This record gives sequence, C-alpha cells and structure tokens, in this order.
Amino acid sequence: MSGTVYENARIHTLDPARPYAEAMLVRGERIVAVGDLAECRDRAGGGARRVDLDGMAVLPGLIDSHIHAASYVRGLDQVDQRGTASLDEALARIARHATTLPPDAWLLGGGWDSNRWTRPVQPSRTDLDRVCPDRPAALPSIDGHTIWVNTAALARLGIDAATPDPPGGQIARDEHGEPTGILREAAADAAYAVVRSPHAGDLVAQLRAHLPRLLAAGLTGIHDLDGQDARAAYETLYARGELPLRVHKTIPATALDEAIDSGWATGDGDRWLSTGPVKIFTDGALGSHTCLMTEPYDGEPGYHGIAVTPAEEFERLVATAAGAGIAVAAHAIGDAANRMVLRAYARWRDSAGPGPAARLRHRIEHTQHLLPDDVPLLARCGVIASMQPTHCTSDIPLTSRMLAGRGLASYAWRSLLDAGAVVAFGSDAPVEDPDPFFGIHAAVTRQQPDGVPPGGVDPHERLDLDTALRCFTEAGAYASYEEHLKGRLRPGMLADFIALPTDPYRVEPAELRDLTVALTVVGGVVRWQR
Ligand SMILES: [Zn+2]
Repeated sequence: MSGTVYENARIHTLDPARPYAEAMLVRGERIVAVGDLAECRDRAGGGARRVDLDGMAVLPGLIDSHIHAASYVRGLDQVDQRGTASLDEALARIARHATTLPPDAWLLGGGWDSNRWTRPVQPSRTDLDRVCPDRPAALPSIDGHTIWVNTAALARLGIDAATPDPPGGQIARDEHGEPTGILREAAADAAYAVVRSPHAGDLVAQLRAHLPRLLAAGLTGIHDLDGQDARAAYETLYARGELPLRVHKTIPATALDEAIDSGWATGDGDRWLSTGPVKIFTDGALGSHTCLMTEPYDGEPGYHGIAVTPAEEFERLVATAAGAGIAVAAHAIGDAANRMVLRAYARWRDSAGPGPAARLRHRIEHTQHLLPDDVPLLARCGVIASMQPTHCTSDIPLTSRMLAGRGLASYAWRSLLDAGAVVAFGSDAPVEDPDPFFGIHAAVTRQQPDGVPPGGVDPHERLDLDTALRCFTEAGAYASYEEHLKGRLRPGMLADFIALPTDPYRVEPAELRDLTVALTVVGGVVRWQR
C-alpha cells in the first residue's frame, strides 16, 4: 500500500468526531486516514511519499457557493471600475482603457458604484461619449443590476426614445424621453448578451488563465452562477482534463426549457462538474433601488422596487423545474422578494409530497433582508440560505441609510443558523473579491476592513470562526448534494484541502482577512502552490 502522508501539520478537520489531527494519509483522490503521525504512517505502509507541511495549518478546501467565475475572469481583462471615488475617476480609467483596444471592439468592464462617488449621480451616455465616442461601451454596475452604455452602444442595441420598457426592466430617460444610457434589470438583457459574448474574448482561455487565482485564494470548489456560455467553457475544460477545481454549474432561467428538454437534473454530473439549480431572479438589488421591499423606498412614495419575476410566474417556474428534478435558486434581496419566494417554496413543499421535498434543495441567493418571521420559516422549509458575508460589510453605508428603522433581519446568518437553516457562504465575485478569507473576516467581525463600525454591525449576528468555516465548506458541499464527499477531512472523503502558514485559529479576528494560502490540493493532486 502506498499513498502520500501529509505530516507535521495542524489539521483542523471540521469533523466533530475528530476536530484536530497532525497527519493525513491520501491515496488517489481520497483521504484514507486522519490522525497522529504513527497511525498514518502505519496505514501507509512502505513506499508512501511523505510531505512535510512544516507546521502549517490545514483546512478542508473552501467552497464558494455563489460566484460568477466567467464574469470574474473576463473582468480581469477589462476596465475595472471598482473603488472609483467619482465619476471623473471612472471616466479617466475608461479613457485609458479605450486606448488599449483594437478599433471597433466594444469597451467592456464594470464595477462602478455611484453610491460611493463623491457626488452620487447616475452617470449618463453623454458622460461616456466624452471619453469613448467612437466605439460602443457597456459597463455593468457593481451589483450587476444596471448597465451604463454610451450612444454608440444604444444604437447597436437598437434602443431609442421609441423603445418601450420591457417587463421587469427600465430604460432611464431624460425629460424628452431619450434614453440616458442607464438600463435597469430586464432592460439591460441585450447589453448583457454582448458582455457575455465572444466580444469579451475567449472564455475557455480566460478561465484556464485565471482560475488558478481561485485556487490560490483557497477555493477547491465553486458554484458558478453565470450563463450557458460558462457551462460550455467548463465542459470544454473538463473534457480536456484541465478543470483545476470542482464546479457546480447553475442553469439560467432562460435555459430552463432547454435543460428540461435535454433531461438535465440538479446533481447530475460527477465530482468535477455537476448540474446545479436553475437561477431565477425575483428582484434587483438595494444599491440600484430595485430590490423588492415591503415598505416603499424612502423619498420614493409608492415605489417598492422591481418584481423581476412576479409571484404567480415564480410559482409556476418552481413547479415546472422541480417536476423535472431541477432545484431552484431564487435571487432575492428585498424582504418582500424573500417572503414571496419562501411562500412559493412552502406551497411547493406541501403539494410535492415528502419524496421530492427530501430530494431537491431549493435555495435563496443572497437572502439579505428578511422580515423577522421569515427566519424560522426559511429553516422550516429546508431552504438553503446562500449568503455572501462581504456584501454585508460593503453595504454598511447603504443599509444604514436606506433600511434604518425597518426592523428587518439583515444578513442574519447567526439567526438563520440558530433556527436550523443551512447557510452556504460565497463571494458573488466579481461583485466582491473572491478571497474567501475576506468573507470569513466579514462573517466573524461584521466590520469593514478598516474596523468600522466598532463591534460590528448587528453584532448579535457575528459568527465564530469554526461556524464561518463550516459555511464555506460543508454547507457548500450540502448545497451540491455532496456532503458525504467533501467539506470535512475524514477517511473516505475527497482529498480537497488547503495549507496556510498562519493558523486561522490563532489570529485575531481582524487578521483573518490577511491569511494567505500556501498549498491547494484538489482530489489528492497539488493544483496550486505558492
Ligand atoms: Zn450573483
């Protein structure tokens, strides 16, 4: 018998049966033994390879349960608008980037956040025309619910004063009815089709070049929420044996019929590439004033946000998808959207019977703002709360201004866990940085990187490190129906793990953001090493 003994390590297994070990024996893609050194060497027998981890801390590989990896890798080759402090700074970056592009190429790239600009105005096509007059430009906002385009892009997209707002979308207009260059929700679909097309480059090559960044951050698995183009690219990498981490790929709502016709079901596939739930948007986002709220937005009487998928349509989609063995992942941010989704899931559970209800694990993506009664309801319905801790801390300026006094349970992961719900963490990259330790820091401290606010926002919702890690490991495994295979380091499970020079259990919470990964192993193979 042989294999590899990883020794001289501080192994945090996240396995309650044996939380801590000093050595681990891996054979093929699986863990054979976890325990003390003598035990592992004994099991290995002669001829085993030994890897001295030099006292490093070892954790199960982290799983990002909500990432747009295709958008993330594409964005690395585009103009990055994140962190811009003003419209002028955003325009300066765009002007610089435009000079690097071949003639006639679309100018793409996003991440602008006008809420953070010194003068928080919605930008316009005329602003963009000043720095990019001669080629079409399309720039998604940080939350992805708004696209800012220039005049050339509006012309290419065929949008003018005569174009009506599509259902579930809005073309912002000036006093003459002319589009201003801001397209919201469904009105941005045509622009998104460009952003996700070969206009943005060769996705297979981009994934191959940039997925190692996710390995370097400590991720061994992702749930990818991007489109069918991303699925095709993953399939290509998989077929070539070049997929370096495990991918659970969701189905966009627009591809549900195709998925059903093709006989796809959630959980199909193998340990490297599997079919996820169908992603259905039910509302927008807070920063874009498009998430669906029970109380109207302050200063906008009668305006509650945008119901991207109304309740009846959503219930029909849940029944259709579930009937074909496809679980649903509903994007819901506002309290009214979350309530609508939960009621639909509860009704489906009642009508579907115990078989399907036990098999399909419906999810809510973001689960950001809940009416307090909906916390126990979510747990009772067995719904997975797919949450992104860095949204909580990035949104502090927004939520403190827009949601104060509403009595909502916002980013209420501690309450959800206490109620018995499964909470799976992710990054929502490229909206946020994909580094899972940023998310762990946010979950534990509920503070911005600068330590604001002292004690954290809603400090009763803070998590201990162990729980935050479980939300980034076993919860993600549960959400892809693989909790028997990964999420913990124990015999029989997949050898997906990471090693860190600094032990997360031995640092102050404020330092969790700074942790780095030295080694990432997926399926028993070193996929990345510093
Ligand atoms: Zn997302």
